Amino acid sequence: MSGFPSEALLWSELSRCGVTRGEGKCLPSLRSWSWFSTMFEGDPRVHCIEKRFPSGAECGSLISTRIEYDDADIGGASLLCFLVSVHPREEIAPYMGAKFDYGPACPACGSGGVLLPGSGFPARALPAKRSYALTSSTVLLVTGNLLQNLRQFPNSDQWLVQLEDNKKRQPLPWYAIWSKTTLPPAFTRSKGFALQPESRFTCSVCDRNRWTTSFEQPFEYIYSRTEMSKLCRPAIPTGGDVPDVVSTWERHGCGSPIDGSEKVWRVPTPYTFVSQRVYQVLKKHMKGKLHAIPATLVE
Ligand SMILES: [Zn+2]
Repeated sequence: MSGFPSEALLWSELSRCGVTRGEGKCLPSLRSWSWFSTMFEGDPRVHCIEKRFPSGAECGSLISTRIEYDDADIGGASLLCFLVSVHPREEIAPYMGAKFDYGPACPACGSGGVLLPGSGFPARALPAKRSYALTSSTVLLVTGNLLQNLRQFPNSDQWLVQLEDNKKRQPLPWYAIWSKTTLPPAFTRSKGFALQPESRFTCSVCDRNRWTTSFEQPFEYIYSRTEMSKLCRPAIPTGGDVPDVVSTWERHGCGSPIDGSEKVWRVPTPYTFVSQRVYQVLKKHMKGKLHAIPATLVE
């Protein structure tokens, strides 16, 4: 199968692999449908999906495998990435009204761009009864009590970015989490990543936006704790050796090159890692919907 001509066909293909609706989401992007899901390591259906949706040059299926970590793994982690099983059907992206500071970014593809307050987002796409949602490119959106609890962290104004209704241009009570602080590149022995083949979506200048999770391995970021404290840019605002909220250097999401007039439809997005104390707040509010992936820190 090449391309995604319709959502119905996408589900038809997935059902041939034994996947049922409810195990993932079909999400529209500007040029195709994407199927977004995560399965546990060793799930025999992954091989079938991999054959039907070969990772190619186009944005496509976003399946990834994951390890089921136990409480000791999670509780002992200094930095955690997360997946949330509540997805709005829209994206934080320029074509939806998001605005970025491209000052620290790659001039060709926008990797490293920082989301700006007042970024537009369609209010109708936000969940009515939940205080959180995760876009397909893993940008976490928060509101309500969860937002209030996150505001208690020092420097939260550095990573809580207010959204506004992209039609009415009025402030929304929703914020995106997008850290201005960026980790150094992950250790080369990190697992579960593949560089996408070069295509019209990948950047030939910085090589930052070619990262994608691989089908075969759950992803595991590995960092040097000492390098992290030295190389985070800007410096870690809390003064400790691990930031509260931080973006990965690696970006994903098939961002298109910036053409000089900001007519880019999507900016490559990082994964976000949070400290143990921020993770505990997220967990309290997202019972059963939050899956954590600890980073491995070596000295
Ligand atoms: Zn670039």
